[in-house]
This record gives sequence, structure tokens and C-alpha cells, in this order.
Amino acid sequence: MADEDEKLDGKPEHPTPLRGPDEGVPPHPEGKRTSVAADIGALATGLKTTLGEFFTAPVTLEYPEDKSPRSERYRGRHYLRRYDNGLERCIGCELCAAACPVGCILVIAAENTDENRVSPGERYAKTYEINMLRCIFCGYCEDACPVQAIVLGPEYELSDTSREKFIYTKEKLLEPLPPDVQARLQTKAKET
Ligand code: SF4
Ligand code: SF4
Repeated sequence: MADEDEKLDGKPEHPTPLRGPDEGVPPHPEGKRTSVAADIGALATGLKTTLGEFFTAPVTLEYPEDKSPRSERYRGRHYLRRYDNGLERCIGCELCAAACPVGCILVIAAENTDENRVSPGERYAKTYEINMLRCIFCGYCEDACPVQAIVLGPEYELSDTSREKFIYTKEKLLEPLPPDVQARLQTKAKET
């Protein structure tokens, strides 16, 4: 017996029950009583919402195959333009670099010569680089350019594998303009 008392560790063998045998079943809480019909009704309401969404057109896109349309005012990666005769528009004036709020444009100008004419003006951009990691795509460079040489296009998928590849050189910036940029520039030219 002494051993059993030690096992119980001082606690009574039959703890006091929460409800006494003579207290009966507690009353049902106040409020509407549920029924099978009410449960089926609630289930049908939920299914109606699910089915309604099933037949509604999805708002998500299968990116990258499908892309959402961009605003006409959207500004992505830059391009340097040429004239129709092949000469570069950029005259190396550095106004774009001066206007850039984050200092991500580097222009080093050189003199045009009769033997080596690159642009119509006295000078051309021997080096033109944009650090795309610093660019905030504000478009100030495009606004500052007196000859519309630098423009921003619609591309926003600019991921790459090293920091060096985000320094866009003149050769890369002189790639042909996408058709929608051409259309935007033509519209802008008509408005001015
Ligand atoms: S878009 Fe703005 S931040 Fe980017 S290069 Fe042009 S001026 Fe600089
Ligand atoms: S892009 Fe335009 S503003 Fe910039 S250096 Fe060339 S001509 Fe000047």
C-alpha cells in the first residue's frame, strides 16, 4: 500500500470529475439549431462561389510566354540611334550624362575627321556606356539629348549572369530599334 501511495505521488486515485453524476446534461446553447438541410445549403453556397470562379477568365498570365501589355509611357533599356544614311546621331555633347541623376552614363568624345566621319557634327561619342545596374529609367537622358540620339525602349527583361554584362557599351546600344520605339518617336515628332 505504501508503494501505491508513492506511485500516485500524493494525488488522489480518483480525481474529482468536472460534472457530478446528478448534474444531468448541460442545456443546448442559445441560438439557431443546425440541421442537415442547413449544412447542405451552406455547402451549396460555397460550391456556387467555386463554380463561379471556375468559369471566370483568369487574371494571371503564363509568363514568359504571355506578357501583359505595357503602358505607352513605359521606359526600359536604351538605344542609340543612327540617321538614315548610317551616321550616328550622337555628337558626344555629354548633356545626357549631365542630366543623369545617378551618374550612370559615360561619354568620351572624339573629333570627326574627313577620313573618319562617324556623326554629322564636329564630335562623336568615341565611348558611350551606360551602367544599367545604376540606371533608374527616369528618361532624363532622352529628354536632354538635343538630337534624339539616345532613347529608351520597352524591354524590361534585363537579367544577366555578371555585373560586367550590365555595362551596356556603344556597340550594344547601337542595336536596331524595336518597331514600337520607332512608332513612339514618329508620334512624338508629329506632336512637336
Ligand atoms: S534613364 Fe535616367 S538614370 Fe537611366 S541613364 Fe537615363 S538619365 Fe540616367
Ligand atoms: S546621346 Fe545625345 S545628349 Fe548624350 S552625348 Fe550623345 S548627343 Fe549628347
